[in-house]
Parts: sequence; C-alpha cells; structure tokens
Amino acid sequence: MEGRSVFLSLSGGADSTTLYAFLLAKKALVTPVFFRYPSKHNDMERAAAERVAARYSARSLLQVDLSGVFSGLRSGLLHGGPPLPDGEYNGENLRQTVVPGRNTVFLAVLAAHAESAEGERTYAALGVHGGDHAVYPDCRPEYLEAARRTIRLSSLGKVEIVAPFAAMSKAEVVRLGLELEAPYELTRSCYAGGDAPCRVCPTCRAREEAFATNGAVDPLIRV
Ligand SMILES: [Zn+2]
Repeated sequence: MEGRSVFLSLSGGADSTTLYAFLLAKKALVTPVFFRYPSKHNDMERAAAERVAARYSARSLLQVDLSGVFSGLRSGLLHGGPPLPDGEYNGENLRQTVVPGRNTVFLAVLAAHAESAEGERTYAALGVHGGDHAVYPDCRPEYLEAARRTIRLSSLGKVEIVAPFAAMSKAEVVRLGLELEAPYELTRSCYAGGDAPCRVCPTCRAREEAFATNGAVDPLIRV
C-alpha cells in the first residue's frame, strides 16, 4: 500500500483512528474523510476527527456533507429518532442505533473519491471490526465481500476496499492502536455526544472494556 492513495472514513473514534495509524505505518497516502450527517454526536465526532487529522499532519480533512441523505431516517443515533439506549454493545437495544444504509453510502462516496484520484490502484478504507457484526449488517464479512465486488466492478478494478479489522475484536483493534501509539486521547466515541465519556452508552462500555482487556486505561477516563 506504500505510496498509494487511501480515502479513510475518519469518525474521530477509536476504530477509525487506529486504522489511520495502521495505514500510515504502511506508508499509504491517506486522505481522511469526515462525513457530516445528522447524528446526535456528529459535532463531537467532527472536532475529534479534526484533532486526529491535525496530529497526523494529514492532507487536510475532507468533509463531506451528507445531511440531506440521512435526514428523516429513523434511528436512535439520529436527531429526531428515539432516545439512545444504555447497555451492552449487542442486543436489541443497540439495534436502535443502526443508521439505515450508512456504510453503503459512506463506501460509495469513499470509492468515488478513490476512483477520481491519481494512480492505477487506490483504496477506500473503513475501520469496522468483528464486534460490530452482531448488530450492524453493513459491517459483516459477507456485506464487505459484496461491496468489494461492486466497487471493483464500478471502478473497472481500480478501487479496493480496505477493512483489515473486520475479523478482529475491538480489544484486538485497541491492542494494535496502543502498539502504534494511536492518539486515543484526541478521539471521542460516546453516543451521547459530550466531551467526556458517559460510560453507560454501548460504545462507551465497549471502548472501556477493550482498553481493560489490554491492561490499559482509556486516556479519556483520566481527563
Ligand atoms: Zn457514552
């Protein structure tokens, strides 16, 4: 992947920031892409994505406004949707946080930019991991395989999807990020959208547990 253009969906959370560190370690030319859409924590995510991109002295963060695409859809993660659930990172409560069509739309936009970029082979990168599979159908291996094929066909073989964490647990992703010294102190994940983690929403719980499994403490807990 050395010297190749990669368009990375950077949400400002732990998973996409780890993937950013991973791609830079591979000497890829990473353009981080932040998607603006009407999620309840989008402003917090954007600030985090800007901090991470600035830390990595990236090509400037590309911000793509998808407000119109996702407005009016029913999801606990979106403004106007039901309240966010508290609890474990699986099960029926988390199902309410599915955003219809999200990764399909994100991948289409990333792939379009990758297809438009210079080079014979370019990439669209997503930090999805195995812990997402149970609830989010657009994070599962069969979905990614089909999307990979679709994007190869639509780009005449130019664009590949990179999702190296798809078979890893979140704890394994965090272990890799700790090794790569990913700037987790700059990231934010909480669905509630506050600057400090609420520690009760599913993503806060999953994140805290992933650090604990590695014998580490999330730097956000200490600040
Ligand atoms: Zn939270």
